[in-house]
Amino acid sequence: MLRYAKVQNMQEYNIENYIKGAKRIAMGGHIRPDGDCVGSCIGLYTYLKNNYSELTIDLYLQPIPEKLHFLRHTDEIKSEYVQREPYDLFILLDSSDKDRLGEFLPYFEQAERTLCIDHHKSNTNFADDNIVVPDASSCCEVLYTMFNEEKIDYDVACALYLGIVHDSGVFKYSNTSALTMSIAGKLMEKGIPFTDIIDNTFYSKTYVQNQILGRALLESVLFYDGKCIFSVVKKEEFEFYHITSADLDGIVEQLRITKGVECAIFLYEIGELEYKVSLRSCEIVDVSEIATYFGGGGHMRAAGFNMKGTVYDVINNISERIELQLG
Ligand code: AMP
Ligand code: MN
Ligand code: MN
Repeated sequence: MLRYAKVQNMQEYNIENYIKGAKRIAMGGHIRPDGDCVGSCIGLYTYLKNNYSELTIDLYLQPIPEKLHFLRHTDEIKSEYVQREPYDLFILLDSSDKDRLGEFLPYFEQAERTLCIDHHKSNTNFADDNIVVPDASSCCEVLYTMFNEEKIDYDVACALYLGIVHDSGVFKYSNTSALTMSIAGKLMEKGIPFTDIIDNTFYSKTYVQNQILGRALLESVLFYDGKCIFSVVKKEEFEFYHITSADLDGIVEQLRITKGVECAIFLYEIGELEYKVSLRSCEIVDVSEIATYFGGGGHMRAAGFNMKGTVYDVINNISERIELQLG
């Protein structure tokens, strides 16, 4: 893994060095794409299209949130798997393991070469080339350092800025560094509508999104002397409010900032006795370690995984791991 502090010049890792010789390139990110995943995929896709017009590039992602459709080229995303001739290169972004590709995994497995660009501490360096920078705020931040500044246009800047904003919680999480801020500043110089990007994609909520947030907070439970908090959204609520998992963004963060809380756990039901788990911590607990233990992954302060069992089982299992760290 790379550490910014140890790399003399990120330009050694210029994207141009990795696409040499490839004519047909496929790209993808993780299932249920978030802001950083979409920002990095669209950012790289647009950068390559703008500057290397001789390449054939296909971008594969599961359907993306409606609010991200303002980004250029999102209408070109392919969201269905069809069998194709193997690609010369597959580039996987913002994903700590290849299974995170979901239905598009065969493109990665069949490609002549693979490249992974990521910032997850739990990344297992599974590709042929791995540019993994765990001290970067976002995959978009890593990509910026691999691009030539003068080749970044307005559209690429919008996409990269979006990803940085989302993964850094608008520049407030502990993954935000002076470099993050200076890159954001450089992107602003491209004339991007930064206020709109932040308001329309991060803060703005629909009425039902506010309702489900309110409900999740109302039903949240504090435990372990107020150091932990959890809440659950069940299948019935998805049906009642006509929502999808994309409508649950921000709930775990609101739980995390509860005064006195070190660790927040948010679950939502993805199947019969099966839950998607989101973990967040403030200062002590390494949630990436817990998520990796249960077969998922993430960062020190934000991680996730899927778990089978009742809510009671899931919370009990996670609490045991938290207690091991809090001592
Ligand atoms: P989330 O709680 O889904 O917002 O995810 C927090 C962080 O953990 C993100 O960086 C995700 O990419 C990562 N993550 C979430 N779920 C998984 C999973 N099942 N496997 C690996 N990483 C995950
Ligand atoms: Mn992501
Ligand atoms: Mn990310």
